[in-house]
Amino acid sequence: MHKYLFLFIFFISLGVHAVDTILVNGKIITVDDRFTTVQALAIKNQRIVAAGASADIRKLADANTNVIDLRGRTVVPGLLDGHSHWIRAAEHDELRFDGVTTRKQALAMLTERVRAAKPGEWISVLGGWSEEQFTDDAGGFPLAELDKMAPETPVVLQAIYLHSYLNTAALTAAKIDEATPNPPGGTIEKDASGKPTGIVRGAGGVAFVAARIPKLVDEAHMANTRKLVTYLNSMGITGWGDAGGRGMTAAHYETYRQLAERGDLNARVFWTTIRQPATPEQADKVIAEIATLKPFQGNDYFDHIGWGESVYAPVTTQLLRVQKEVKPDALAQMGRIATALAQRGIYVNSHVEMHGPIDQFIATYEEINKVHPIKGLRWSFSHLDQVDDKQLERMKRLGMTAQIHSRPLIQGVRMHKVHGDAAWDMPPFRRVQDSGILWGLGSDATAVTTSNPFYTLGFAVTGKMVGGHHVNRQSITREEALIAHTRSNAFILFQEANIGSLQKGKYADLLVLDRDYMTVPADQIKDIRPVMTMVGGKIVYEAKR
Ligand SMILES: [Zn+2]
Repeated sequence: MHKYLFLFIFFISLGVHAVDTILVNGKIITVDDRFTTVQALAIKNQRIVAAGASADIRKLADANTNVIDLRGRTVVPGLLDGHSHWIRAAEHDELRFDGVTTRKQALAMLTERVRAAKPGEWISVLGGWSEEQFTDDAGGFPLAELDKMAPETPVVLQAIYLHSYLNTAALTAAKIDEATPNPPGGTIEKDASGKPTGIVRGAGGVAFVAARIPKLVDEAHMANTRKLVTYLNSMGITGWGDAGGRGMTAAHYETYRQLAERGDLNARVFWTTIRQPATPEQADKVIAEIATLKPFQGNDYFDHIGWGESVYAPVTTQLLRVQKEVKPDALAQMGRIATALAQRGIYVNSHVEMHGPIDQFIATYEEINKVHPIKGLRWSFSHLDQVDDKQLERMKRLGMTAQIHSRPLIQGVRMHKVHGDAAWDMPPFRRVQDSGILWGLGSDATAVTTSNPFYTLGFAVTGKMVGGHHVNRQSITREEALIAHTRSNAFILFQEANIGSLQKGKYADLLVLDRDYMTVPADQIKDIRPVMTMVGGKIVYEAKR
C-alpha cells in the first residue's frame, strides 16, 4: 500500500514541475518513422518531453516556461553531417566560399578580410570551392590581381585539393622562390624566367602550401573552435561524424573535449581515430594500438566511436584519378587491420569510391566475417561513388551502412572530365536509397566541398552543383534526403536514442527555418537558412533581424 502511495506522490510531483521551453504554432517535421508533422513541442532538461497540438502543449507551461511562438514556421531536426573534417578545420580561421556563386563576390569577401587583417595575419581559403562554381568568371585568381588587392597580407586560395593561388606576400612568407624544388606530389608553377607564378599544383603541392600557414594555438585555437561551431550552427549543423584527416594531433581534439566537458560545445561531435600506416611495420603498430582502444568513454557532446576513414594509406583512392583496383598486398594489410578491429568489436568507416576497390573491400570483409562476425558493428563505407546493386546487397548482408557525400557540388564538372557520362551517376543517391540499405548524407567538408548542409540536401534533390550546372541524375525526394541527413546519420553515429528526430525522449536539437523545406521550389532548398538553431534545448544561434 505504502509503495503505491509513494508512486502516486512521485507522479504528482513530476506533473507540477512545468517544462522549460515550449515551441507552438509551427509546422514541426519530426522525421519520426512515419514522418509525422506536429504543431508544438515541450522541452525539459534538454530533452523533448511532449509533441503534439499547440493547445495541449500549452497546458504543460507555467509562468516560468519560455514560450516560443513559431508563427507557422517550419522546424526540422538539427542536421547531422555523417562525414566531415571540421575538428581539424579549427586550426585556421579560414575565409570560406561556401555557396558563393560569383568570383566578384569572392573577391569582395577577400578584400574585406584583407582590410580587417592584423599585420602578419594570413588570409586563407583551404578548399571547399572550385572555379566552376562561379557563374561570372571561372578563370581563377591571377597573381597581379591578388597582389593589387593584398600587397602586404599573405593570401592563399586553395581550390578543392587541386591547386592553390598565392600572392607575392604569401610566396615570400612561405619562402617559395625560384630555387624552391617541387614538393612530393606537387608542382610549383614557374614562368619562362623561372619565377613562381603564384600557382602551386597537385595534392602534395596544396599540402606543402597549407603546412606553411601558421596554425592557431592555445586561446586563439579555442576561440576559433567556438567561432567555427557557431558558423556551422548558423547553417543548420547540430552534430557530425568526424573522420579526422591528414596531420591530426591530440591538440586538435583537445579544444572540443574541453568545451564538451564544461557543457560549452554547441554541437555533438562523434569522431573516429585516423591513422595512415603505409608499411606493414606501421600496420603492426596500429594493430597494437587497436588492442588497447576503448571507444565510447565520452559524453553526448563529444565521443569517440571507432576507427576510420583511412585504414591503410596505400588502399586509399582518389576519385579524380581512375583506379580499377588496389594492390593485393596493400589490401591484405588493410585486412589485417580490419580483422583486429573486428576482433575487438570496434566500428570502422572506410573511404572507398570506385567499383573495383569496393568489390575488393567487400570480399575482404566477407572473409573477416567468417571468423569474427562484423554484423552488428555497423561498419560503413564512405563515398561509394560507383557502388552497384550487387555490392549494396552484399553490404546489407554484412549489416553495413553507407555514407554518401555531396562532393559533386563543387567537383561535378571535374568528375565528368575524368569519368565521362558515368559521372552523372556519382554518387548514386537513387540506387542507394532504393537498395534499402541504411545510408546517411554528409558533405566530406571542408576541403572537398562546401560545408552548408542545405547545399547537400538541395544537391541530393536537384543534382545541381554550386552555380547551377546539372551534374547528377540520381536525385531523391526531399523527404528521403532529410531522413538521410538526420535520423539515419544518428544511427550510423550510434546516437539513435538521443538525436535524429524530434520525439519524446530525444534531445531538443532543432532548426527553425526561414522557409518551408517541404514546399519551397527545389532550386531554393540550398538557400534555406535557420532563423534559430537549438542544441539540447539551448538556443545556440539566432539570425539577426
Ligand atoms: Zn572524408
